[in-house]
Amino acid sequence: MQSIQVDNISKRFGSLEVLKNVTIDLKQGEFAAIVGPSGCGKSTVLRMIAGLDTPTEGHVTANQKPIKDPDPSRVLIFQEHALYPWRTVEKNVGFGLELAGVPKQKRKEKVGELLEKVGLGGFQTYYPHQLSGGMRQRASIARALAMEPEVLLLDEPFGALDAITKITMQNELLRLWEGSGKTVLLITHDIDEAIYLADTIHVMSPRPGQIVETVRSTIPRPRNRNGADFVQVREKI
Ligand code: ADP
Ligand code: MG
Repeated sequence: MQSIQVDNISKRFGSLEVLKNVTIDLKQGEFAAIVGPSGCGKSTVLRMIAGLDTPTEGHVTANQKPIKDPDPSRVLIFQEHALYPWRTVEKNVGFGLELAGVPKQKRKEKVGELLEKVGLGGFQTYYPHQLSGGMRQRASIARALAMEPEVLLLDEPFGALDAITKITMQNELLRLWEGSGKTVLLITHDIDEAIYLADTIHVMSPRPGQIVETVRSTIPRPRNRNGADFVQVREKI
């Protein structure tokens, strides 16, 4: 399991100063969030933790070791859940396992378990276009979980979902995370979502991107805003 240190990093793209002196400590097993307006550099921070980019100054480390390249122990989930449209759900979710040389039968079993876990049991043979946005998002989460990541990096994963699917997915994420020891960093521009899900919230301001405040959510755990109740309340109105 991993703790992550973003240690006083700055990032420039040519003359554009995107991040300045950003420090974020993620304890092992912590659920943290970054909130801030569009363009303030949130995705850039996440890409560095994912090993997809490097800071101009400062260091990004996992368990005190520099992060240089992408590693299957740290997965990044995007808002546009980038499933392969020509592959079935089973083939999409099992893709990483296939690359890792996991034999077919074992893959099938594992994918089946993961789909159950994210509420997509029985959807193995469906293609992405046959699923709703929420279901595609679940499939991409299942695909990420297939690699048994220690760190989950979520880049506005619920942005495109309708309100009810969003609440259901948020609760599913909490259930997957509770007691798993996984370190989660969620990016959102929705402050309510950050406070509901995360224990620690880092607030960023733009031009250049800086952490202006780090706050703690005081909502007790476990948290479960019940999606089903929400639907019922809506129907009563
Ligand atoms: P956020 O995720 O908070 O919306 P980003 O991290 O995507 O912000 O981007 C922050 C700033 O960095 C933006 O102004 C964006 O245009 C710029 N930027 C991001 N990646 C690159 C890149 N590869 N080359 C040049 N500019 C970039
Ligand atoms: Mg972004």
